[in-house]
Amino acid sequence: MKLLCDLSLSELCDFLKRYNQPAFRAKQIFSHIVAGRELDEMSNIPKDLIKRLKDDDVRALGLKVEESFTSAIDGTVKYLYTLTDGNIIEGVLMRYKYGNTLCVSTQVGCAMGCRFCASTLGGLVRNLTAGEILSQVIVANALNTGKDRRGVTNVVLMGSGEPLDNYDNVTKFLNLLSLEEGLNISRRNVSLSTCGLCEKIRRLADEGYTPVLTVSLHAPFDDMRKRIMPVANRYTVSEVIAAAKYYFEKTGRRVIFEYSMIESENDDEKSAEELCRLLKGFSCHVNLIHLNYVKERGLKGADNSAIDKFRKILDNNGISCTVRRSMGSDIEGACGQLRRSYIENKRNK
Ligand code: SAH
Repeated sequence: MKLLCDLSLSELCDFLKRYNQPAFRAKQIFSHIVAGRELDEMSNIPKDLIKRLKDDDVRALGLKVEESFTSAIDGTVKYLYTLTDGNIIEGVLMRYKYGNTLCVSTQVGCAMGCRFCASTLGGLVRNLTAGEILSQVIVANALNTGKDRRGVTNVVLMGSGEPLDNYDNVTKFLNLLSLEEGLNISRRNVSLSTCGLCEKIRRLADEGYTPVLTVSLHAPFDDMRKRIMPVANRYTVSEVIAAAKYYFEKTGRRVIFEYSMIESENDDEKSAEELCRLLKGFSCHVNLIHLNYVKERGLKGADNSAIDKFRKILDNNGISCTVRRSMGSDIEGACGQLRRSYIENKRNK
């Protein structure tokens, strides 16, 4: 199968030369794809060309929306997408005053094994291609664009999967996302969240990519981090912070550290103080996150008073910090949960 959404406009031009098509045809098809149309919906394209493409197993987009759920509380939408091979992935659209942020998946499943996370429970199934990641944005954008309605303005690579474990497809996606003739989403409006694969963080900066880097730290001590994140066996906390500092120096973009608060695990004062010591003098930001309860995991989120105490210690030490607002709590919590419950329900039917 060939996905046209994997291609830039010039690559699409080259591809369509095999079908003896002029450049203007590539432009037409490209703008249909950006608008979220499949081959059959491209009304101004000759029918015989569409037929030849379909006979050659070519498709425009990498997925379709299987189901969507809208939060009655804050309008957050969760999408379940079906990929062309039948795999299911999920994404979330969050509405803010300044625009709409779409959280996208970069892999089906995940190999990282974090103990609190639902996405990694079944291991890694496969990487998504650049076009499959892009299709999530294209489709959500098309569904949310209209008169007086803005489509997707910001993208966070924070859904299922470890983006830097799928480096080539993810960087190609970053290139496609910001194309002027494409979705034209500003590079400034993209964030990438990683569990901290240090060489890849450095490579991203060296190769001139500049998404806001979000590092899932979750623990200031190596032994504690190893208990909750297997990736800590590969990189120490200080190596992760050194890579984040390198990223900041190269790109000038302030790094964000994520810290999900787990009761009796990482929510004590000693951890807060050590985190301050580690980050002192580094112009970064810390996001404290309420742990989403994942039934298979059994870990409990820290309570509000522990989170508040933790935040105050960071504040008092001059570390910029916010407690992340939780959105869409009525439509399934952490990424990876919706996909799991969908697959389980289907199996039980
Ligand atoms: N693999 C990347 C991106 C996907 S996870 C990463 O590790 O950053 C996105 C964020 O959600 C990470 O910070 C992750 O640690 C966090 N997360 C995963 N499961 C969670 C849960 N149950 N509760 C709170 N945060 C969770």
